[in-house]
Amino acid sequence: MRKLASIQRIKALDPIAGADAIERATVLGWQLVVKKGEFKVGELCVYCEVDCLMPDEPNFEFLKPRGMRIKTVRLRGQISQGICFPLSILPVGFDVQEDVDCTTVLGITKYEPPIPACLNGVAKGAFPSFIPKTDETRVQVLQNLLDQYKGEACYVTEKLDGSSVTFYVNNREFGVCTRNLELVEDPENTIWKIARELDISDKLRAIGMNIAIQGEVIGEGVQGNPLKLRGQTVRFFNVFDIDRREHSSFDKLKDLIRGLSLEMVPIVAPDYKLENDINAIVMMATRKSLVCPDAWAEGIVIRPLIECRDPVIGRVSFKAINPEFLLKSGQ
Ligand code: AMP
Ligand code: MN
Repeated sequence: MRKLASIQRIKALDPIAGADAIERATVLGWQLVVKKGEFKVGELCVYCEVDCLMPDEPNFEFLKPRGMRIKTVRLRGQISQGICFPLSILPVGFDVQEDVDCTTVLGITKYEPPIPACLNGVAKGAFPSFIPKTDETRVQVLQNLLDQYKGEACYVTEKLDGSSVTFYVNNREFGVCTRNLELVEDPENTIWKIARELDISDKLRAIGMNIAIQGEVIGEGVQGNPLKLRGQTVRFFNVFDIDRREHSSFDKLKDLIRGLSLEMVPIVAPDYKLENDINAIVMMATRKSLVCPDAWAEGIVIRPLIECRDPVIGRVSFKAINPEFLLKSGQ
C-alpha cells in the first residue's frame, strides 16, 4: 500500500516572485506552496500527496469546498502539489520519525474517481484474488529507487486517464472486471460490449493458459473524455501469467497484445535509460497525447524492459503525471 501521507523533511524553501505571504517548499520530489514562515528548512512535517481524501475534521475544514480532496493548484504561477501540515495534527504520543506512514492514523483514504455509469454493472464478486489490481506509485516519492536503478533500460508509455479493466481466463472461465469488482455478464455494459466486439474471451482461451490482460477504457462517458474520442476503446498495459504470478516483460507484452489484434497504450519511448532526476521525468511527462495531439497527455508510466521487483515498492513501475493535465482537468 502506497504512503499517501507521511512524515517528511522540508528540503528547501524558496521565494515565489511577486508573492510576500507564501513561499515554495520542496518535500520529497514535490514542490508546493506554504505560508511564509510556517516551516523552516530541515524541519519535519506531515506531507499529504495529491489524491488524499481527508477526513471531515476541524484541521482539514478548509478542504470542504473541494470535497476534502487534495488537488494540484497553481498559486502566483507556482504549481503546488500536496499539502504540508505541522506535526501537531498527529495524535498525542505518535512516534515521530522521518518517512513514517501516517495515512491510516489520520483517517486518510485515496480519492478514486467514480466508475463511469456505462462501465458499472452488477457485481459478480470482489476483484479476483489471483490477479493484482492495477496501480502505479508516483515518481516524486521514489528518489531512492531512481538512484538505485539509474541507467536501467526502461520503456515509457503514455498514461491514459480512463478507467481500469481486467479480462481473464482462469481454468477456462472468462471474467470481466472493473477497477475493484468482477462483473456479471451484461450486454448493456460497455466492458462486456468491448469484450464481445474484440472477441476477447475466445482469444484468451486460445492462448491455452491462465492469463489476465489489463488496460484502460477511454472515450465517451469516461472521465470527461479528455482525448475527445468517439465511442469507447481499450488500450492494454499489462499481461499477467496467473499460474506463475508474474507480469510479462515489454517484448512479450507487446507481442501478445499485438498477436491478439488488440491495442497497447501508446509507446512514448521503447528504450529509455532511467535518469535519477525527478524534475527531468516530470518534464518528460509534460507532453501532448499521442492519441489526440491537441490534448495534454495525463502523463507517463515507466517500467524496466525486463520486469523486476523491489523489496520496498514491489513491482518496479511508476507514474509521472503531467502537471498541466492536472490543472486543466481540475485534479
Ligand atoms: P491512477 O489513475 O493515478 O490511480 O494511476 C494508476 C492507473 O493508471 C492504473 O491503475 C491504470 O488503470 C492506469 N493507466 C493508464 N495508462 C496506463 C499505462 N500506460 N500504464 C499503466 N497504467 C496505466
Ligand atoms: Mn486514472
